[in-house]
Amino acid sequence: MKNFEVPIIYRSPLIAAIKKKRKEMDKIKNLPDRRQSGRDFTPTLLDFGPVQIYLARHFGFCYGVENAIEIAFRTVEENPGKRIFLLSEMIHNPQVNADLQAHGIQFLQDTYGKQLIPFDTITAKDIVLIPAFGTTLEIEEKLNRIGIQTEKYNTTCPFVEKVWNRSEVIAKNNYTIIIHGKPKHEETRATFSHASANAASVIVKNIEETKKLAKYITGEIPADQFYSEFNGQYSEGFNVEKDLQRIGVVNQTTMLASDTQAIADFLKQIMIHKYNLTTASAEERFADTRDTLCYATNDNQTAVKEMLETAADLAIVVGGYNSSNTSHLVELCEEKLPTYFINSEEKILSADKILYFNFHNKEELLATRYLPEKTPVKILITSGASCPDALVEGVIRKLTHFFTLALREEELIRQFG
Ligand code: SF4
Repeated sequence: MKNFEVPIIYRSPLIAAIKKKRKEMDKIKNLPDRRQSGRDFTPTLLDFGPVQIYLARHFGFCYGVENAIEIAFRTVEENPGKRIFLLSEMIHNPQVNADLQAHGIQFLQDTYGKQLIPFDTITAKDIVLIPAFGTTLEIEEKLNRIGIQTEKYNTTCPFVEKVWNRSEVIAKNNYTIIIHGKPKHEETRATFSHASANAASVIVKNIEETKKLAKYITGEIPADQFYSEFNGQYSEGFNVEKDLQRIGVVNQTTMLASDTQAIADFLKQIMIHKYNLTTASAEERFADTRDTLCYATNDNQTAVKEMLETAADLAIVVGGYNSSNTSHLVELCEEKLPTYFINSEEKILSADKILYFNFHNKEELLATRYLPEKTPVKILITSGASCPDALVEGVIRKLTHFFTLALREEELIRQFG
């Protein structure tokens, strides 16, 4: 993959050395425990004696995030004196967004689409960056009417564009598009807009909503209830009787792989039963395509599953609290052991207290005695696709400090170098 120029403050020499080493190891044939896929997802052990840290094989900045950060900082550098706006948060990481604002970039909307700066104050002389999530066709048109060249400063991730292309193919084959995603998430709003331009579309948030949608397919619920139940989640002119006869599923790129699979499998079975099809003929009513999760989502989730095979005392997941991909890593860890979702090392207040985010209730909570009184303490660590590695290193440094250990960074880098 391409190497991007990302500000050095986001990098961690230690983690860079670990990732480089692991990548090289992946290339070596005949690893004794090579997985079937040919890739090794086992975590990396950092053994500090009284504390053992297991780092997930894949975590941190993905292709789309690095690409977006590189474009944003380059745009600032190349355009002194110009007003530069971002449509909304660049990525879901508070540190990166704050740094961009410190460089003079202003946000036009908040993460939920609420206008912070009116569009009519923007002129053709300004620069507007499209974030990695992409944007809706409506906003793109609005900006183009003002005279903004949206294509020049567009950081939309190619893996998001891939979802839009898949939607187009599904639409061309006369299927309605079911989008598995978070209705208010920037990426899902953008995908919904692109999908709706080609075919009838509806968003389902989870399996519960999918089951509700299925009742309209089978006719168990009167069609007119759909419009209030799925308010804000269906395309204009959606006709329940007509538009649920042939369907295909795409996903927000950062959903939980198992949820996405369960939703597609469930809807396929509903169509098979409703239309007396077989698995072989299901495609008459259900577009049988693979999910549209991106490589980073797949790799990070697989790495977490593999990391969870290690008997550990707790897990720490680092990332922005509104980051979808990070919350799914938390979800996986929570199934197995006490998990603390933090957005920086500062949330680790002491060896006894930690502030962590409960993403189910969207509140920050204080936990005490989170480190068990035993040795060695085994801690699993991972981070989301928009989290700088420097933050993960900060977390490791803080934890080792509690065990009166200095992080012998240079020694460790040599070990992995
Ligand atoms: S998480 Fe995936 S889709 Fe999103 S920016 Fe990263 S690579 Fe692109």
